[in-house]
Amino acid sequence: MAEESRGIKETLWDPVAGFGVTFRTMFRKVVTEQYPFEKQPTAPRFHGRHQLNRWPDGLEKCIGCELCAWACPADAIYVEGADNVDGPLEGEESGRFSPGERYGRVYQINYLRCILCGLCIEACPTRALTMTNEYELADDNRKDLIYEKSDLLAPLLPGMVQPPHEMLIGETDGDYYRGEFKARAEAPEQQEGGQ
Ligand code: SF4
Ligand code: SF4
Repeated sequence: MAEESRGIKETLWDPVAGFGVTFRTMFRKVVTEQYPFEKQPTAPRFHGRHQLNRWPDGLEKCIGCELCAWACPADAIYVEGADNVDGPLEGEESGRFSPGERYGRVYQINYLRCILCGLCIEACPTRALTMTNEYELADDNRKDLIYEKSDLLAPLLPGMVQPPHEMLIGETDGDYYRGEFKARAEAPEQQEGGQ
C-alpha cells in the first residue's frame, strides 16, 4: 500500500510541483541585466580604472615620485620621473608639466596584474592618482591592457591648458600643494586688506 501511494506521488504530484516552480517564476520580475547594452551604475566608491588628475590650470598633479608603484602589491605600476624645466621648450622632454621639480614622464598601469585594491591611491601624496567607476577593462589582447599615461590622464576641462606651460594659478609649487591660490581667488579683498 505504501509503495502504491509513493508511486502515485512520483507520477502525478512531483511533475505538478515541478511545473509549479516554473509557473510561479514566470510572473516574477525579471532580474536579468542586459549588459553590455544597459550598463548598471556602480556604488559611488567602486574601485574602477585609475585616473591621473590635473590642477585647475591643466598642470599634472603627478610628481613622478613612484610611491604608488612601491605600494602596489601586484607590481602593476611603472613610473619614470623627469625634471620640469622652466623657460622656452628645447625638446620633447623639456618644459613644465607639473608644479615643483619633477613630473611623471612615463606612467603605466598593467591591468593584467592590477587587482583594483586601491593601495596606490592611498600612497599618492598629491592626490594625483584616484580611481574612477569605470569597470570595462576587458580586451582581446595583452598589449592594450597596459594603460599608458595618455590613457590615464584626466581630460582637459574648460579653463585648462594642455601642458607643458608655466604655473598659471600660483607663483610657487607650495601654492598648488597647499591650495593657497584658491584662497587668493576666493577672497582677494581680504588678502589685500590684511597686508
Ligand atoms: S589598485 Fe592595487 S593592484 Fe592595482 S595598481 Fe593600485 S595598488 Fe596595484
Ligand atoms: S601618481 Fe602619485 S604616488 Fe604615483 S608617482 Fe605620481 S605623485 Fe607619486
